[in-house]
Amino acid sequence: MDLLLFCAVHFCFLIPQSICNFHEAHMFFYGLFEIVHERNNCKALTRGWMEQKWMNRAIELAENGMKAGHGGPFGCVVVKNGELLAEGHNEVILSNDPTSHAEIVAIRKACKKLNSFQLSGCDIYASCEPCPMCLGAIYWARPERVFFAANRKDAARIGFDDEFIYEELQIDPGSRSIPMIFTDNRKALELFKKWADKEDKTEY
Ligand SMILES: [Zn+2]
Repeated sequence: MDLLLFCAVHFCFLIPQSICNFHEAHMFFYGLFEIVHERNNCKALTRGWMEQKWMNRAIELAENGMKAGHGGPFGCVVVKNGELLAEGHNEVILSNDPTSHAEIVAIRKACKKLNSFQLSGCDIYASCEPCPMCLGAIYWARPERVFFAANRKDAARIGFDDEFIYEELQIDPGSRSIPMIFTDNRKALELFKKWADKEDKTEY
């Protein structure tokens, strides 16, 4: 019986989602697939399909957000211990917030849910390679891993040119297209000293 189920489920996966519109059917087989693989100890394969499942969800969120006019075609899912923790899509247009990228939206929701400013033990699935802003947010959140599908060059081809920001990072602050102007730093450094001396601070 197990072998029969095993073969049937594998055969179903030969039908790409692009030519089969029955999303529910695919999700059903994903569920079946997980059970069969658990029973057959195919942990590595199960992981591969689970990763694809989360990435498919990130891409689905991206498409839904795009169709709703909320922003660009970007989606993100945060997973912990194999469970969905939070998800988000680009909401830059919806919220008039240039920082409302899918990853930022999902990270904020995930941290709120965990009641923590760290995403330890979490995996992030982004439909596209994170831009420099989101990359920074990801490093601050410190998840375990980041999976992405499309890359920054693919994004640049449809008008989302992160490459420009990567280039700006290499340039001296005063020479950037938005000049970064150095001012008197005495008060700012005094404050830094207060932080360094503060005994009851929460470090992160
Ligand atoms: Zn971003």
